[in-house]
Amino acid sequence: MTDTLYDVLIIGGGPAGLTAGLYTSRAKLKSLLVERMILGGQVMTTTKVENYPGFPGGIDGPELMMRFQEHCQEFGLETLSGEVAGLRDLGTVKEVTVDGQRFRARSVIVTTGAEPRKLGIPNEAAFTGRGVSYCATCDGAFFRNVPVAIAGGGDTAAEEALFLSRFASKVYLVHRRDRLRATKVLQDRILAHEKIETVWNSVISEVVGDQSGVTGLVLADPEGGNRRTLEVTGLFVAIGVVPKAHFLAGILDLDAEGYILTDAECRTSIPGVFAAGDVRKKILKQIATAVGDGAIAAIVAEKYLDELG
Ligand SMILES: Cc1cc2nc3c(=O)[nH]c(=O)nc-3n(C[C@H](O)[C@H](O)[C@H](O)COP(=O)(O)OP(=O)(O)OC[C@H]3O[C@@H](n4cnc5c(N)ncnc54)[C@H](O)[C@@H]3O)c2cc1C
Repeated sequence: MTDTLYDVLIIGGGPAGLTAGLYTSRAKLKSLLVERMILGGQVMTTTKVENYPGFPGGIDGPELMMRFQEHCQEFGLETLSGEVAGLRDLGTVKEVTVDGQRFRARSVIVTTGAEPRKLGIPNEAAFTGRGVSYCATCDGAFFRNVPVAIAGGGDTAAEEALFLSRFASKVYLVHRRDRLRATKVLQDRILAHEKIETVWNSVISEVVGDQSGVTGLVLADPEGGNRRTLEVTGLFVAIGVVPKAHFLAGILDLDAEGYILTDAECRTSIPGVFAAGDVRKKILKQIATAVGDGAIAAIVAEKYLDELG
């Protein structure tokens, strides 16, 4: 057990965690941010961010997150490299386990984010950011007047197909079954859309590409037969997202998918524990909303600490 009692311990160093850390350290609260990988979160895996305000023309993901880090350093935010595996509520003090070592804090902000589910097929990782994307809202505008495909059959896949149809010349919705799981209203819109073509009873078994990026996909029947190539320059994978809150199951209230349930001010089911960013159940998972959440969680944590006295 370390001797220090932190005012705020932040779990996760993506946009939400770094924003929370910026606010709490600027407010002179004794803050520690714990990150298991490199600081910056999911944004470190994207080449260009075009929809974060203040950067006309866009900015590289890693460069944006470097600025977040530098800004936190300006206010002296303490950071620690390690993975959080446990959280215990001891009333006015919370105990957080990082790689087997116990840390104490008067409040905790969970900003552990989420991860898009991968297809797990050959070349998927090699072409991520070069034609393979997990976020139509983020990357759709890069695919103007070219054919793209979407993997998935639920509401997200259907919504992303409709969104992509604004840019792409053609959108193939590839689904392993012969009907969508999306709600009826979305299905009707997809099936009636002139630019969207459904490819039923098919799985994507490989991404094909060259120096320029993705050039096509190898499709097959769900059983693996009837292999053929679909020529597209983009693949959007919309088969679900995994929130990184498994270590909090049974401790905080989570929804059926594993997202942390909070009120509008980022309070969780434990007083003094807040959640911000993609790990929280909410409508839009983007940098702008993660940043907004991080700021709210920090200010509400500060008020909570004031009331504790
Ligand atoms: C490829 C890609 C491109 C994207 N492009 C855009 C875009 O152009 N515009 C946009 O607005 N949004 C974009 N997004 C979405 C955006 O990145 C997320 O909405 C945002 O990063 C969420 O921030 P966050 O801080 O909540 O979580 P994350 O960014 O996921 O950060 C969470 C951090 O917590 C750490 N962590 C997790 N568990 C633990 C643990 N137990 N202990 C310690 N640390 C832990 C993780 O390692 C991670 O660094 C993109 C996402 C991806 C994947």
